[in-house]
Amino acid sequence: MRQTGVMAWVTGAESKADLLMEAARRAADFVSVERDRPVVPTAEALDRLGSITFNATLDRPLDAQNVIAMLDEIGSAATVSNTGGRYFGFVTGGVEPVGLAASVLAGAWDQNTALPVMSPIAAHLDALAAEWMVDLLGLPSRSIATFCAGASIANLTSIITARDTLLREAGWDTAADGLIGAPPLTVVASEEIHSSAIKALRLAGLGSGSVVPIPTDRYGRARADAVPTTTGPTLVLLQAGNVNTGYSDPFADIIDQLDATRTWVHVDGAFGLWANAAPERRDQLEGIARADSWATDGHKWLNTPYDCGVAIVADPDALSQSMRMDAAYAAGTGGRAPMNLSLQMSQGARAIPVWAILATLGRDGVAQAVERCCRHAERFADLLGDAGIDVLVPPVLNQVLVAFGDDDHTDAVIAKVQASGDAWMGGTTWHGRRAMRISVSDTSTTADDVDRAVAAIVAAA
Ligand SMILES: *Cc1c(COP(=O)(O)O)cnc(C)c1O
Repeated sequence: MRQTGVMAWVTGAESKADLLMEAARRAADFVSVERDRPVVPTAEALDRLGSITFNATLDRPLDAQNVIAMLDEIGSAATVSNTGGRYFGFVTGGVEPVGLAASVLAGAWDQNTALPVMSPIAAHLDALAAEWMVDLLGLPSRSIATFCAGASIANLTSIITARDTLLREAGWDTAADGLIGAPPLTVVASEEIHSSAIKALRLAGLGSGSVVPIPTDRYGRARADAVPTTTGPTLVLLQAGNVNTGYSDPFADIIDQLDATRTWVHVDGAFGLWANAAPERRDQLEGIARADSWATDGHKWLNTPYDCGVAIVADPDALSQSMRMDAAYAAGTGGRAPMNLSLQMSQGARAIPVWAILATLGRDGVAQAVERCCRHAERFADLLGDAGIDVLVPPVLNQVLVAFGDDDHTDAVIAKVQASGDAWMGGTTWHGRRAMRISVSDTSTTADDVDRAVAAIVAAA
């Protein structure tokens, strides 16, 4: 496979097309067997990774055909199969076929979405997909959505916007004067808020050390009867979809208690916000539309290709005041400019696969995909419960928590299932106890996939 002599650049249009066809053919072969593959790579596949290091080096490059061949022949076997229906780890989505196909085509376009003038098609779909997101997720129609790398970045984008807005209303201009000497800003957060929101507080200069916690109940929801009272500007962080249980905070009951004039409510809804797209699950999010900003993911429950997150802010001016850039060469180019609505300047057209998926599934198709995952979660809980396994919390969304006696045995069962190749689910610590966490986030998962995973768990237990 190693190439000697002059490096063969792929230059002509014909060889570029050939190379792309070759990659597409290999990708098509990959997806045609993805449902039959073991969920984790074999030991042999992992051993072969070393030959990638050996075969191409900075001083001894390969030609492009060989690079693609090596990627497929060694790389494909060393992937984790999170698109094959039996991966239930973390909250990892699969990929909707039309989203993958659209991103292959959009990859050829190689559009930079920073400014509309840089790509009319990317700008058009960015605006359209953003509008559809707000509609589909049941948020106030005046809100603005902006695409980013994931819910962590969406949390950061929203928290920076909240910080600037709350302090501006208190007479302080963070854009000009920074945070040193700023008036105090209180942060209140669910005790079980996701770690990415805590990281965002650190990055936004608010720190995580003085967060005032809202205690949670036995389902992991912030307790409406235990919301601390605060004075002065306050940022309140809540969540739709606790990452362990899938339960959402009681938004209406909490927001009722807050002083809207000096409080900004941000909701991390990385996966849980999708409950609003499914009529049978929507009641779990009552009052969520009264928040000021929301973070969610495309790459989790919508099954866009990685990576894709969405930040949504009720007040579009607040977002653009925090995210705008002043670049002389961008002046006067007009239109909705993602570089003025997000942390990045240059950025890929993440909205293209989002649009393609929504244009294909429509409102009903998304609702069905979300509902299907919830039903599979219930199937897991029912079958595992019937097998005498301890279901720690009854599922309401796509997350299931189970335990197998003591912590050591639970960890041993998790490790055994992970090694089986039949299914993969991770471990967590839930209210002091080790648990297996099952997340049904690949919308291609079938009831048969669930049954096979249950069989692997029961065998391991
Ligand atoms: C996954 C997740 C995040 C982080 O999202 P990324 O897309 O991985 O950045 C934040 N909050 C919750 C509740 C999550 O499940």
